[in-house]
This record gives sequence, structure tokens and C-alpha cells, in this order.
Amino acid sequence: MVLLNCYSLHVTANPPPAVISNTKPIKATAAVDISGDLKVVSANQSLRNAIAIKPSSYGPFLQACAKEKFLEGGLQVHAHIVKRGFQSDQFLLTNLLNLYMRCGSLESACKVFDIGPTRTNLVSWNSIITMYCQYGLVEEALLKFLELQQYGFLPDQFTFSVAIRAVECRKELFLGSQLHSLSIKLGYQEEEFVGNSLIQMYDACGRINDSICVFEKISKTRNPVTWNLMITRLVEREFHGYALQLYEQMRGFEVGPTAPTFSILLKSSTNSESISLGRQIHSQVIIHGFSTNMILETALVDMYVKCGELEKGRLVFDRMNQRSVITWNSIIRGYCQMGCREESWKLYRAMRREEIAPDKYTFPALLSGISREDYSSEELKIIHAHIIRTGLETDPFVGVSLITMYSAKENFADAKLVFHDADHRDIAMWSSMISACANCDVGEEALQLFIDMLHLDVEPNKFIYSNLFVVCGDLCMLDIGRQIHAHSFKSNTASDAAMKNSLLTMYSNCGCIEEAWSVFNSTEDLNVISFNSMIAALAQHGSAQKAVELFRHMKHIGLSPDGITLVNVLSAFNHAGLVHEGLELFNSMEENEGIEPVYQHYACIVDMLARSGEINKAITIISNMPFKPDSSLWRILLGACSKHRDIDTGRQIAEMLLEMEPRESTNYILYANIYARLGRWVEAEKVRGLMEERGIEKEVAISWIEVNRTRHTFGVEDHSHPLSEDIYKNLRKLIREIKVVGYVPDVSFTTHNMEEREESLYYHCEKLAFAFGDLATAPGITLRVMKNLRVCGDCHCAYKHFSLITGREIILRDRHRFHHFIDGVCSCGDYW
Ligand code: ZN
Ligand code: ZN
Repeated sequence: MVLLNCYSLHVTANPPPAVISNTKPIKATAAVDISGDLKVVSANQSLRNAIAIKPSSYGPFLQACAKEKFLEGGLQVHAHIVKRGFQSDQFLLTNLLNLYMRCGSLESACKVFDIGPTRTNLVSWNSIITMYCQYGLVEEALLKFLELQQYGFLPDQFTFSVAIRAVECRKELFLGSQLHSLSIKLGYQEEEFVGNSLIQMYDACGRINDSICVFEKISKTRNPVTWNLMITRLVEREFHGYALQLYEQMRGFEVGPTAPTFSILLKSSTNSESISLGRQIHSQVIIHGFSTNMILETALVDMYVKCGELEKGRLVFDRMNQRSVITWNSIIRGYCQMGCREESWKLYRAMRREEIAPDKYTFPALLSGISREDYSSEELKIIHAHIIRTGLETDPFVGVSLITMYSAKENFADAKLVFHDADHRDIAMWSSMISACANCDVGEEALQLFIDMLHLDVEPNKFIYSNLFVVCGDLCMLDIGRQIHAHSFKSNTASDAAMKNSLLTMYSNCGCIEEAWSVFNSTEDLNVISFNSMIAALAQHGSAQKAVELFRHMKHIGLSPDGITLVNVLSAFNHAGLVHEGLELFNSMEENEGIEPVYQHYACIVDMLARSGEINKAITIISNMPFKPDSSLWRILLGACSKHRDIDTGRQIAEMLLEMEPRESTNYILYANIYARLGRWVEAEKVRGLMEERGIEKEVAISWIEVNRTRHTFGVEDHSHPLSEDIYKNLRKLIREIKVVGYVPDVSFTTHNMEEREESLYYHCEKLAFAFGDLATAPGITLRVMKNLRVCGDCHCAYKHFSLITGREIILRDRHRFHHFIDGVCSCGDYW
């Protein structure tokens, strides 16, 4: 225990109180250095006796405690005062009131004020009103404003100023204008304090014109503070032109602009990205002799950088005699955002040579706009090492950019380490970590983080919800997605348009097109992105007609489609096999929509033609398009050749692909399938043999299904599930039943030898997932199964029969689209 009863105060600014000089040498038992100014020492008994002479002796102690915001000390002095019976002394009460106000102890301040004697001075009234305002207790503040008049006081300019600020917090325009009238009545209309408060109050209530009126009324007493205040408010409301006019007027009033004036105006040009305004201000800064003011020079650098004139910014930067870390951060961020990473690192090193320590904004600046291609993994390690050396790695702000950096490189493990090592995790950090999970395809980790943050009472923001919806959609975790959706209602983010788009896509990705529609219909400000999301959802679900209707509706209400809209509409035609309509749109898009086809549009058309069997037409489009085809486009053609049994073209494309991408397993599999589809097993085996020889592993097929909010994953012929035995038993029973209603296994989809061929088909992952879902849920419940690759033809056929014999609706999402199976029929019409 450091503090006891007595205090030896050394207040350097004021002479020490007389009582202290009377004391004998103080034997300190312990001391606490609160600041250079004040030392509180627990001392011996003789001082305790010496100190309590008269009320005024306590004054300097209270003032010193107030100055240092030393509440504990103040409370003990107060206890002394009470003990000595001085508790009604007006001088001490005023000092105590001041002390509690400075220390932010509202309760104690109110107690002191309520004793009474302090009410005989207006300064105390003003203090208590100010305090209520600081605590947001606006009603209490205004009540005190009325009460003081009952005590025979008239509010002065300070009282008005505080009361008006209270009204500003509540945006109570009516009350504000009443106070305004009263202030005029009492003759304070030209008072600068009252005027400044009125300007801010009217602006906060959305009445900038009234602020301007007040400003004009106080023309005589306007000082630079008032001018700057008015200009700031205009800039914030984006009345940049008017702000500039005021600046011109200001010079007419012979009030010299101050450095803050230029600071505000530079902010104005930065925010409005108005380089011409920025240049004007720059010349004014020079004319008024502020050209060596470091803060203004920094603002100039920032303005040029943010307005896209990096070279100009650099010129100002190079001419500066002195630069702060803020200046360096601005120029570094400028180079990074222009993609000049090398130059930004050069600048960083130069900054270190000048012995300027980086702050928490430096590394985020260096890493701003980072993309996958920017740094090698070794370079990232070096950057991280730099950050560790500066001791900033545990700062959440730096942490966010480190996580984003690792996430951009899909290095989830290191992103997670940064997150775990952080001293303190703010909402931005949670948000970036959850986004990293979505980006690195580890959605389940994102769900776990969400649970963790709820346990810690961290309120999720709209970015977190958006990312969680993306994750639930990707994983097809419908039940959990619905729960998170319900949770988002509790926050006030539910109306955010971007979040609604992710929600819409989540429902669509979980196969719930109706729910996607209702999200779309409940979106208040539908924009192009909302339409794009909904059209994409309809396309994936094969509802071409509705997609086109929505496309027309969007144009009807005056929204111009963009390139993505057209890709989505083309893909809707593609999924529905509407080749003619697709070609028509493609051929007229430039003329009708003013959108030049880009690679994605060509890819859509090539896919559409190839799938409908028009392989030669597709090849013609490829050879005439103004882009170089990539391997995935050729793979689409190869798949089509397999489906349409065009072995010659297929072989040519396959050989080309094997040369382009000898390590890509899909090329071999598609190639082998061409032969398998025709029953040419020897050749098929040869291609597979080649793949094996080259040590290429094929992408493992997995299917999963969500039951009771848990994801159950199955591989091909997978026995790892705890209920494996029952699942296989159920599957064999189902197969027997569907064979009765006409299912014939299609052995061309197997890779095994003849004897095992048929049997192996039964244990494809999507069949296992269905068999489990059928076992684990009540009859008639809709099942939603996901597959990471395209569904195989045999499983597609089996699913149709499953839906028939079980009476269940089955929604199967594969890598390309959705299949809704009802009563033995699939929504894709077997066109996929
Ligand atoms: Zn299959
Ligand atoms: Zn289908």
C-alpha cells in the first residue's frame, strides 16, 4: 500500500504550500512518481498533524490532484476534509468539484454539487452541466440549465455554449433553436463561443444553411477558429466550392489564414480528389509563407499521392527539410498502390537510414494492395522479420495487414500464427482472419472463429457476416448458414447491400433458389451487383427463362448491365442448352448493350457450342477470337469431344493439352474417358498408365452432406465414417431397389477392370453421401449433396432413380451447376 494519509507534494509550477515547509524532514516509506510534477509520498505522523490547520491548506493539494487527474489521492484529501469538519467550505467544495470533474468521477462531483454552497457561483453550474454533457446525460444537463435560472442566475456565454453542445449530441433541433433565441434575447448573438456552438449544433442537425446564417451574424467577432470551424463543416458536407469561397472572404476580412485553414482545405481537395483545387491551395500555402510547415507539406504529399499525381507528391517530399513518419507513410503507400513495390522498399530503407522509426501505419502502407503475384514466400518472410524487429508485430493494425499478406499468398498457417500471437484482437483482425479462411478454402476454420468470437462477446460486423455467408455457401452448410443469417438480424448490419448479395449467393449455393429470391426481393437498393448475383444464381440452377426476364427487368428500371451481367445471362442460356438465344445475345451485345465481348464472353460461347455438339463451330470461334485461348478452354472442348464421342478432334486436343500442361491430371482423365466412353478399354488404360508413369495424382473426388449441422465427407469407396457398415448396407439395398425400376449401371464411367467395374460404381462418393443422408434423416426430407468435381453420368442416373424410389427431393451441387432431382427427373434435363 503506497498511499496512506499524508502527501508531500512538489508542484514545480507553483510554490509548495506553506504547511510543507513547516514540517520536519519527511521519512518516506514509499513513493510513486505520477509525473515529473507530482510526487506523492506516504510520510510520518507529524505531517498528518501539521497539515490540518485551516480549510485553505487543502486547496493546493486538491488543485495538484486535479491537475494530475489523481483521483485516489483526491479522495483521501476529501476524507481528511470531512474528518476536520470543513465539508461545507465553499472554496474547498469548488476545488473538489473541479477535482472530480477532471478525474471524470461524475458521482462524486454530483454529491459535492448537491451539498449546496457551490450553487452560489455560476462557474460551478457551468462545470456540472459540462460534466453531464461529457457523460452523454443530456437531459440532466438541460435540466440543470433550467434549474440555475431558479437560483437567480442568468446563463452566460459559457453556459449557452455547453447547453447548445448538449443539444447537438441529441440532434434536438427544436430545443437548439429555442436556446438560440434565448441567447439572442440575452445579448449573446455575437459571442464567438455561442456562435461556434450554434454553427456545430445546426450542422449536426443537418441544417448547414442555418450554420451559415449564424456564421454571418457573428461577422464582427469572427476569429480564425470560427473561420476554420465553418470551413471544416463545409468540407465535411462536401461543399468544397463554398469552402473555398469562404477562404477567399477570410482574406478580405483581414484575418490571415492559419496552418489549420490550409490543412482543412488540403483535406478537402484530397477527399474530393480535386487536383486543380489542390494545386490552388498549394500556391496559397507558398504565398502565405507556410511552405516549410511540415504538417502542411505532409498534407500536400498526401493530397498529390491520393489524387494520383505521385511524381508531384515526390517533388514536395524531396524538397522537405524535415519529414515525419506520417510523411514517409504517405509516399510509401503512394508507390505501393501504383504497383512500384521496389521503390516503396527503397523509401522504407531510406527512412530507416534517417533514423525515423516506423509506426503501425508504415507496414500496412508497404503491404497495401498486395496481390498473389507481388512477393515470393522468402520475401514475405523478410518483411515479417522486419516487422518483428520493430516490435510492431503484435499491433492489431499491423496484424491485419500481415494476415492479408499471407492470405493473398494462400498461406493460411502463417496467417493463423499472426492471429494467435496478437496482443489484442480488434474487430478488424477477426474480420481479416475470417476473410483469410474464406480465401484459403478452410471455411470450417471460419465457422470455428465465429463461435470463438461470440464466446468472447465480440460483435461481428457486416464484413464478417459476408465472409461467413460465402463460406457456408461454398461448404453448402445450409443449417449453419441459416443460423448465422438469423444472428445477423440482431446486429444492425442486416440491410447492407453487399452483405445481402453474399447471403443471396449463399442460399443459391446451398440449392435454395426460393430463399435466394426472397433475399433479392427484400433488398432495398438493388444495384447492378444484386442483379448480377441473382442472375448468376438462376443460371446455375438452370432457370434460363427467369434469368432473361430479370435481365430485361433490370434494363427496364434503368440499370445498365455490365460485362458480368452478360456473362451470367450467357451462362444461363448455356446451362439450359439455349444455343440460338445465346448466340444472338453474344452477336448483338456490342451494338445493343455497348459492351465489347471479353475473354469470359467468348469462353461462354465456346462452352455452349461445344456442349451442344457443335465442336467445329466452337473451334472456329476460338481461332477467330482476339484472345489467346487458355488450357481450361481447351479442356472444355475435350470434355465435349468425350461426351459427343468425337475421338479424332478429342485426341488432337488431348495431345496438345498434355504438351501444354503435362502435370494436370484432368487432361489425362478426360483423354482416357474418350476411349472409355467408346468401350476402348486398352487405350483408356494406356492413357491412365502414362499418368501413373509420370507420377501424376488425380484430384481426389469427395462428396459431402450436412446433417444436424455437421458436415459428413465421403471419398470413393470410403469406409472411414463411424456408421460405415450401415451406410454400405443401405446403399446396397437402394441399388437393388433402383435396379428394379430400371437403373442400369453405366460401366463406361469406371476405371477398374471388367469384373470389378460394376461393383466399383456403387461406391462412388456421391452415392455414399446419399446413402448416409437417407439413413440419417426422416423420410421425405430434402437432401443436399455436394461434390468437388463434376458428377459422373452413372451417379446422375442413379440419383434420378433414388429420387423416384425414396420420394425425396435431392439437390446435388457439383463443380459446375445444380441438379434438382424430383420424381425421377433432373432439372438439368440431362444436359450438363
Ligand atoms: Zn459416380
Ligand atoms: Zn442433372
